[in-house]
Parts: sequence; structure tokens; C-alpha cells
Amino acid sequence: MSAWKISLGLLAVLLVSSTRAEDPEDVELSVSEIIEKANKNVVRGPGEPFVIDDIAYGSEEEYERNADPCTTTGCMWEKSGDGNVYVPYKIHEHYSDREESVILRGLKSIESVSCIRFIPRTHQRGWIHILSLNGCYSHVGRRGQEQSLSLNRQGCVYHHTVQHELLHALGFNHEQTRSDRDNHIKILYENIQPMMTYNFDKIETLNQGTPYDYDSVMHYHRTAFSKNKEPTMVPIPDPDVEIGKAREMSQNDILRLNRLYNCVKKGDSP
Ligand SMILES: [Zn+2]
Repeated sequence: MSAWKISLGLLAVLLVSSTRAEDPEDVELSVSEIIEKANKNVVRGPGEPFVIDDIAYGSEEEYERNADPCTTTGCMWEKSGDGNVYVPYKIHEHYSDREESVILRGLKSIESVSCIRFIPRTHQRGWIHILSLNGCYSHVGRRGQEQSLSLNRQGCVYHHTVQHELLHALGFNHEQTRSDRDNHIKILYENIQPMMTYNFDKIETLNQGTPYDYDSVMHYHRTAFSKNKEPTMVPIPDPDVEIGKAREMSQNDILRLNRLYNCVKKGDSP
């Protein structure tokens, strides 16, 4: 009898924790809607990095330089002699099994299309610590020490959000901050929340010769940071094209990753 009660209790705990990862209410939202929602009005705790939008910086000064750390100082993960790029990581034990499986699926989805290989961290100096801090965020690229990649349990553990934050950690920035974006989207500053215009600053990003991509998992949605529900970004020349609706990495995201890390597919000549 008591064992039965314990099982029921366990079942209840499992059911409660299972509602946290990929909440069905939010699963239809685009990646940047999820991130904007999860990061709204969050207060960072002590020990958390300086974060703007969902990008973490070593310091406020680093952010103010308005430079992508990847193009100024280099941020790539090291390529091994066997052609793979091993990225040490650890997933914090505070995640439920279901949340952990969503995160692992994200890691595997990147491995399956590139030469990136995520390996459990043992002694390496640079590594990604995936944990539930305040909001969803990541540093851009490798920092050479422990670097937090926050996927808050209450709003960030979704497949596309995991891919988005991992692509930041691998060196990529937001698609709409590309220096060539003005040829592809018009920014409607009059609709942006006054304190949020910096999210639309242009920076040097690692485009790797790939075309501007509305379907990138790194592209924000049409009304991102809007103060009045009106669009903050409109595609050029056709304003009705869908933008920022990606459910997963696009072919261009994958191509960019493979080019940055010089991944060679089996059978290709090096
Ligand atoms: Zn982001």
C-alpha cells in the first residue's frame, strides 16, 4: 500500500516536472518570442554575467565596444587533428530527465550536421556550463574558461531555443544584426521600445559568405521588442515574406557552421 502511494507520488512529481520542458502552451512560439518572453523583466543574480538581450558579455565595457568578440579577438573552438571540433560541456543536475533530454537532443542535432562534437567536460579549461539561471542566454563563442549557457527551466527549454543558444556559443550572432541587413530588412525604429533599440545595432558577424536568411534560427520575429505590437522589422522588397519563424536550424545556419569550422564531409576532398 505504502509502496503504491510512493509510486503515485513519484508519478505526480514526474508529471509536474514534465510540464516544464517544451510547455505545450508556448511550443508554437518562434524562438525569439520564447527568448523575449523568458528574458522579460528578469533580474540577474550575483555571479551571472552582464547580459544584453540573450547575449552574455565578460563585462559591461566589453559590450560597449559594440563589437562581436568573435570577429575582434577570435572565439572559435579548437579543431582536433581528426577534423572534429570537441566542445566540452556539462549539463547541471537541476534539470529533470525530460528537460535534459530536450537539451541533449539539441546537442545531437548540431553534431549530426557538422564536425562539432560535444563531450562531457573533464579537465578542459574552456567549457560550456548549461544551467538554469535567470532567462535564456549565452556568450558568443569560446571564452577559454567556464562559460554559462542559461536555459531557464521555466521558459527556455525548447529545441529551437537550445539550438539558438548553442549557435551563439559556437560563435554566431543574430541574423538581423548582420552588416548587410539593410538590403533585406527595414528597421522601424518608431515601433521599438525606447530602451531596446540597441538590439538592432549592426555588428560584424561571421556570415561565411552565406546569404541573408529570414529562416535562420538566429533571426528575430517581425515584432521583436515592439512597443505597440506593430512590426519592428519588415522584409525588403516583399514585406509579406515570413521572417523569424524558424522551428530549427536552417540550411544556411548549418552551412555557416560547417564553413566556420571547416568541416569536411566524408567523401569530400579536404
Ligand atoms: Zn540570441
